[in-house]
Amino acid sequence: MKIIDGQAIARAIHEQSKRRVQELAVNGMTPGLAVVLLGDDPASRSYVRAKDRICRELGLHSVKHELPEQTTQKELEDLVRALNGDKAIHGILVQSPPPAHIDERAITETIDPDKDVDGFHPANVAKLALDDPTGFVPCTPLGCQRLLAESGVEIQGAHVVVLGRSMIVGKPLALLLLRKGRDADATVTVVHSKSRHLEEITRSADILIAAIGRPEFVKAAHVREGAVVIDVGINRLEDPASERGYRLVGDVDFKAVAPKTAAITPVPGGVGPMTIAMLVSNTIEACVRSLGPHPGIDTPAA
Ligand code: NDP
Repeated sequence: MKIIDGQAIARAIHEQSKRRVQELAVNGMTPGLAVVLLGDDPASRSYVRAKDRICRELGLHSVKHELPEQTTQKELEDLVRALNGDKAIHGILVQSPPPAHIDERAITETIDPDKDVDGFHPANVAKLALDDPTGFVPCTPLGCQRLLAESGVEIQGAHVVVLGRSMIVGKPLALLLLRKGRDADATVTVVHSKSRHLEEITRSADILIAAIGRPEFVKAAHVREGAVVIDVGINRLEDPASERGYRLVGDVDFKAVAPKTAAITPVPGGVGPMTIAMLVSNTIEACVRSLGPHPGIDTPAA
């Protein structure tokens, strides 16, 4: 059994990103990412800070807007419009979930699709479904695909079972792996909370990807001997013995499942670091695209 080290793979991708940023600097360009956060949810705050820190370390221009919880829909939309018009900003991300009074869908639709590095704008969702490579693909699904590819897991022709059908992970991931071509061409089954015979279906997977937000839901009985398991879940479990009072676990019962697998991602240190790596990569791509066709600059591989 091999543990897929998302930290190490993300570090290698960051090195590639750093080189891309240096190449762009020669052409007088600096990729810029704006991250907007409403309220002070501690998990969201720490994600936003991590994104900002990594972007700066890699030489990107990073702007962080930490707004009060009571910010109105209009104020938020006005900020997004201002960022749409800001030439130094190539990627815009509004940290999810926003407070309950915010219409998240309307905010997503306000973001310029060319700066939608999260890939949630309907125009980008449509491009993913249409197999059009000019859109942006959401970062977590991209990270899962890249983890598999970098670990030498054959995706083509494999039966991939995706557990979860959210618009952030499950659905775009299914579309991505169903695409034609390299690191795709999978046979994809998506299961969710209403699926019958769930265990039977997950046990038929060559590659099982869990994204349901249920701590340690996937047990040994869900997994076929020799399968590859990718755990997207990030769940906080109370743990008085830990310094922070909680520990992070995935959607997979790692201890029970790992011995059966050919390869598995840990939590933390699996998919999580890849999501940020793909965000940086999408932002660089947005910057390159903003230059238009340019003979000296290649589009980085997503
Ligand atoms: P959502 O809550 O939006 O979606 C959960 C999905 O899982 C739904 O489709 C739901 O089904 C399905 N589901 C829930 N319970 C069950 C069950 N008992 N059996 C089968 N299916 C079930 O979650 P997200 O997709 O946003 O996130 C999933 C997990 O991934 C979370 O732990 C989240 O923290 C983590 N995450 C990690 C990221 C990373 O960077 N590593 C990034 C994004 C998310 P239904 O549609 O029927 O309700």
